[in-house]
Amino acid sequence: MLKLLITRPLPDTVIAQARAHFDTTMRDQTTPMDRAELVQSLSDYDIVLPTLGDLYSADVFDAVPNPRARLLANFGVGYNHIDAAAAKSIGIAVTNTPGAVTDATADIAMTLMLMTCRRAGEGERLVRAGQWQGWHPTQLLGLHLTGKTLGIVGMGRIGQAIAQRAHHGFGMTLKYYNRSSKPLPFPAEQVASLADLAAQVDVLVIAVPGGAETHHMIDASVLSNMKPHARLVNIARGDVIKEDDLIAALEKGAIAGAGLDVYEHEPDVPQALIGMETVTLLPHLGTAALEVREAMGLMAIDNALAFAKGATLPNPV
Ligand code: NAP
Repeated sequence: MLKLLITRPLPDTVIAQARAHFDTTMRDQTTPMDRAELVQSLSDYDIVLPTLGDLYSADVFDAVPNPRARLLANFGVGYNHIDAAAAKSIGIAVTNTPGAVTDATADIAMTLMLMTCRRAGEGERLVRAGQWQGWHPTQLLGLHLTGKTLGIVGMGRIGQAIAQRAHHGFGMTLKYYNRSSKPLPFPAEQVASLADLAAQVDVLVIAVPGGAETHHMIDASVLSNMKPHARLVNIARGDVIKEDDLIAALEKGAIAGAGLDVYEHEPDVPQALIGMETVTLLPHLGTAALEVREAMGLMAIDNALAFAKGATLPNPV
């Protein structure tokens, strides 16, 4: 039996499936592996099932020139914590879990859009503080989302799932910025420049992968193009946004609010953001539903099983 390391506690169904097919070790900490653990994982196991925060950078692979590990079956679609090119250079394949995460993450994008536009967090805090003095016509007026224009940065699986919800559910006009052109089953205008897209929308939602290509893609120059009443939502990866520039834009009222599921230096959230009523802050909840985490885990195990049989990997990156 091949030796499999699962780097975090996962749902019972996933662990049972893993144990049925592999000599499985489940690390019981909920925090990312440190460097020593990362290096050891490559020398002690045939397959590792890592996830967000397990920083397999080039120097980790360099430290194990002849690894026992031959597959990193990542739990999650985003794999910017793994230097996949460095892994491949020493013969380690990398897979991810696309599709399993799409609807749940799009749902969290809609949650952030609604909470931020309609000031739901602010209202909730008012009630919980015992300071609500009753309904009145000019209290907590937000931005009406229905019928507004949504800009989507990254029209991939999640971007399209957000678009479907915004179009069919909220009658929103859709515009997007994407690397390639996309045939889409709903009306949406592709805008050639990110700066132009930012200038044209009421809500800008980020759905590109993290990594070198998208690092700080949303910076002061993009933010300065947005309308003062517009909101920015990020469900992708924290470092796609230059967080200091976002804080500055919010502080000077260049944009009206932000809804964030991810942060540049996660799990550190800047005090400046915590102190702002105009931002909604979620703790990376994109895929946080049991059935979704089960589907992600089983998909990662399917990749491990294909590897064990010498079959084509279903989800190589
Ligand atoms: P996907 O299907 O690969 O979509 C990504 C889209 O971004 C593609 O359309 C791609 O364009 C576009 N893109 C990539 N680089 C670009 C660039 N430099 N400029 C413009 N467009 C670019 O991925 P997905 O499944 O939608 O997931 C997107 C990301 O969401 C993941 O990588 C992950 O980091 C994040 N995520 C977060 C959570 C959460 O819990 N918050 C959950 C799941 C996923 P092409 O068509 O040209 O490739």
